[in-house]
Amino acid sequence: MDFDLSEDLKMIRETARKVADEEIAPRAAALDEGKIFPAESMKKLAELGFCGFLAPEKYGGSGLGNLALVLALEEVNRACASTGVTLSVQNSLVASPLNRFGNEDQKQRYLPKLARGEWLGAYSLTEPGSGSDAAALITSARRDGDFWVLNGSKNFVTTGSYADLLIIFARTNPDASLKAKGVSAFLVEKTFPGFRVGKAEDKCGIRGSDTASLFLEDCRVPAANLLGQEGKGFTIAMDTLDGGRIGIATQAVGIGQACLDASVKYSKERKQFGKLIGEFEAIQWKLAEMATELDAARLLIYRAALLRDRGLPHTKEAAMAKLAASTAANRAAKEAVQIHGGVGYLREFPVERYFRDVRITELYEGTTEIQHLVIARHLLR
Ligand SMILES: Cc1cc2nc3c(=O)[nH]c(=O)nc-3n(C[C@H](O)[C@H](O)[C@H](O)COP(=O)(O)OP(=O)(O)OC[C@H]3O[C@@H](n4cnc5c(N)ncnc54)[C@H](O)[C@@H]3O)c2cc1C
Repeated sequence: MDFDLSEDLKMIRETARKVADEEIAPRAAALDEGKIFPAESMKKLAELGFCGFLAPEKYGGSGLGNLALVLALEEVNRACASTGVTLSVQNSLVASPLNRFGNEDQKQRYLPKLARGEWLGAYSLTEPGSGSDAAALITSARRDGDFWVLNGSKNFVTTGSYADLLIIFARTNPDASLKAKGVSAFLVEKTFPGFRVGKAEDKCGIRGSDTASLFLEDCRVPAANLLGQEGKGFTIAMDTLDGGRIGIATQAVGIGQACLDASVKYSKERKQFGKLIGEFEAIQWKLAEMATELDAARLLIYRAALLRDRGLPHTKEAAMAKLAASTAANRAAKEAVQIHGGVGYLREFPVERYFRDVRITELYEGTTEIQHLVIARHLLR
């Protein structure tokens, strides 16, 4: 077992750290306040090749894989979680399934644009009536000659209003009792007739990231844009979430690390009872626990990323990483506000934003309860 990172990976982390500190962090509060999509930050990250970690070189990416991705993602999320989730979706939820399940024609048409960040991507599984029970989705896809015709509505689509290409899951077999077996995946361009974006949500946190609803009204998708085999869409959806959960776990650790950094700094500045608050044992325990839990989660993330990069089973490990990281980071954010006392509750201190941002990591790409189910299912089978 080797805990040393290669020189390439160290360089990616250093590059990410620099751009996060110098360009992404200074914009984060304004994006949050104004609900502004992180277009500028994404453009910069694309220039650095950060949209192409999961696309091979022949399709315009670096092919450096999930471990490289999580090293970069942690730094970006430490600075701005709205930018972090946009970057995570671009890599893990769009480029990755296209590369793993797409045919040569689909990869050539779409992967270079996504890997270079010229196009943004989105992943649309959730519907108003199907969240945790994703296989209960009812959006339909009917074959009509060389096209599929999609009808239905989707909600909670990250980057939905800005995406040029969306991976949309729909039921190609109308027999709802088939559940997962009747679902297929489609590559939908925003310009396809019958595709419409609905309203963007007003959220508690990650306010700069876009969360939209979508409407498919006789949306005509060329037959060549079926991703993978007909009826195998749910397998694609779940495999994609295994990777995505590693990204969201990383988002949690990035926000958690920002909480810890701010708390250590404040503990060395704020005095009460004639002492720095960092001299109180109660505060020291909080800092020590935050650091320990975040480090433990980070190791679970690295393990899951390495397994995925090596093509080994990692569903349980990805769920464990997300469960541990989101729990640790939410605790870290709560304690960070506590350590800051009253000012921790004020908009002008970033821990208030971290506290709102981190909450989502226990909800999307499978709630905490669903991660427990996934892990337990593997233990009991
Ligand atoms: C900001 C944001 C961005 C998102 N981005 C995307 C995206 O890009 N693409 C996409 O497809 N989706 C996206 N989602 C959707 C997200 O993945 C779902 O919200 C999530 O999976 C939960 O589904 P739900 O909201 O319908 O909750 P529900 O499934 O209705 O769950 C409600 C509660 O019941 C619990 N519960 C449900 N089933 C069980 C069970 N079997 N056992 C125990 N407890 C259970 C849940 O854990 C939760 O506590 C996003 C959501 C948000 C808020």
